[in-house]
Amino acid sequence: MPLLARMVATPLHIDIRRGSLADLAGVLADQRISYGGKIAVVTSAGSAQAMRELLDTSLPKADWVVAKDSSLDTAMEIADQLRESDYDALVGVGGGRVLDIAKYVAARVGLPMISCATNLAHDGLASPVAILDNNSGRGSYGVPLPLAVIVDIDVVRKAQPEMITSGIGDALSNLSALADWELGEQDLGEYVDGLAVIMARTAADALLHREDSVSSDGFLVSLAEALVMSGLAMSVAGTSRPCSGACHEISHAIDRLFPERRVSHGMQVGVGAVFANYLRGDEVLAQRTAACLRRHDLPVTHVDLGYTNDEFSEIVEFAPQTRPGRYTILEKLDLTRPEIDERVADFTQIFQG
Ligand SMILES: [Zn+2]
Repeated sequence: MPLLARMVATPLHIDIRRGSLADLAGVLADQRISYGGKIAVVTSAGSAQAMRELLDTSLPKADWVVAKDSSLDTAMEIADQLRESDYDALVGVGGGRVLDIAKYVAARVGLPMISCATNLAHDGLASPVAILDNNSGRGSYGVPLPLAVIVDIDVVRKAQPEMITSGIGDALSNLSALADWELGEQDLGEYVDGLAVIMARTAADALLHREDSVSSDGFLVSLAEALVMSGLAMSVAGTSRPCSGACHEISHAIDRLFPERRVSHGMQVGVGAVFANYLRGDEVLAQRTAACLRRHDLPVTHVDLGYTNDEFSEIVEFAPQTRPGRYTILEKLDLTRPEIDERVADFTQIFQG
């Protein structure tokens, strides 16, 4: 008899609302993760004090560790440090970089990880991937899913505005990534996971046509949900494919070629998505994505990110090298540099006006 259903791994507990972080101790006890609160909390220097003030009373036995950067070396150092004690769990409280460090350290020392996001700039809240700086730039490391995901809307509101809105770009880029995945299926017979597709598409669609903004709690909850769902889509697929295609290759190329000029991941992949949709000839999706980004004052083209056409051509030309083996519209078209120059000029004309 065939299997009648498949089991899908998800976090035990997901809590997205105002004031959710204040209940962290209760969640740890209720979910039988830690009764006594013997946990390690990894955070960043910037948010350490505010987060301690918020959590110290309910979690007096927690040990606090500040991650000085998001490098593999720092993750290894923290892992060595934590290995000495017998913690029940590791809690990451912070932005994407802190959560990535916490996910990697937890995997390394075999502790369950609780993800507490303080901004909404990325879809790493609940993803089984940690992105860390290493000797060759940046690497993506597979890690277990967080055991619980907590997004406190009151805390998120205190983040810099672009660290809230840029997650919109990351969520919208799912639609471009999914189109690239379909190309892989058509041209290479790549297996496309239908459930991962539903999750990644629903996450992006939930934001694409919304008229309200991050000033409303309702929008922030939807955005956080979209980012969590994107992470779960990657987990279901067992790969970042449903949320990462040419859009992400372009962003990775910016990180590699212009590291000092890079901005948040979500902003870069948003621009990458508009360009990839344009390259695929999907004018409707390109325009809808651009309109949504514009509504939230996010960059739509490379010009908005501060790059000349020539620099962007260099980025597009380099992009496929950032993710060898991934098939997207860039690999399919395999454009020469003069062809890229021509497409970039046309793209600028259409979307920059
Ligand atoms: Zn992303």
